[in-house]
Amino acid sequence: MEESRRRAYLEALGIPVWVPRTRGATAHAAAIPEVVEGRPGVAPYPSGTPLTPSPAGRAEPSDYRQSEGDGRDAGCVSSAVDAIEGLDWEALQARVRACTTCELHRTRTQTVFGVGNPAARLMVIGEAPGADEDRQGEPFVGRAGKLLDAMLHAIGLQRGDVYIANVLKCRPPGNRNPSLDEAARCEGFLRRQIGLVGPRLILSVGGIAARNLLGTDTPVGRLRGAVHEYGEDRVPVLVTYHPAYLLRQPEEKAKAWQDLQQAARLLRDAG
Ligand code: SF4
Repeated sequence: MEESRRRAYLEALGIPVWVPRTRGATAHAAAIPEVVEGRPGVAPYPSGTPLTPSPAGRAEPSDYRQSEGDGRDAGCVSSAVDAIEGLDWEALQARVRACTTCELHRTRTQTVFGVGNPAARLMVIGEAPGADEDRQGEPFVGRAGKLLDAMLHAIGLQRGDVYIANVLKCRPPGNRNPSLDEAARCEGFLRRQIGLVGPRLILSVGGIAARNLLGTDTPVGRLRGAVHEYGEDRVPVLVTYHPAYLLRQPEEKAKAWQDLQQAARLLRDAG
């Protein structure tokens, strides 16, 4: 990547560039810039060291938003997306496009399936389509999408290198949080997408994605830094902030940059 472009991406992240340095292990790693890690009061992660979540009760900002829920236990909801484990990409997308399993089908403009490299090493998973995504049929467009692109560029990846999907395939009206019931009914689609991609790493962005992937209400601020696992295949999962949250809380971009650097290290180590 050209130096000027790399700097522009880092500036979009609010990250000051310090001393550029090339690392030679992989193409991705070579594109990881050397920057001033963190900001005053933000401790940098030790390189290559698995991290653990912050101690419970530590006061950290989080973009985790409680689901509005509907009083029902999501674990008891019978998903109508059963029996999709054998579907290929085309059949899965057709199933999503025709889905009327939850009430969100009534208000969507279109379903937002996912986009990117179907054999990607890195899968980015967010929450649900917003207004722009509902209109364009693609996840992470608009300002948050541009920031996500900048975040990926900063570690040497293009949007087309990764696979991007959401927990929900239809937009909740008014951009409200997905309910537990809606997420449970849609969960099989995402599970199959992960199975088809077979990523080396999942980057979970935002509290809603973390809750559904990891089955925890722990805030993002206490989940980030540790390597979690998803599913029977124990796919490694990193948790970071949602780009939309970073647009509202730009002082947290330095932490997101730390998370991205950790993701790049894990991808490099995965070979
Ligand atoms: Fe179906 Fe998921 Fe859309 Fe609900 S959100 S209608 S379960 S595709």
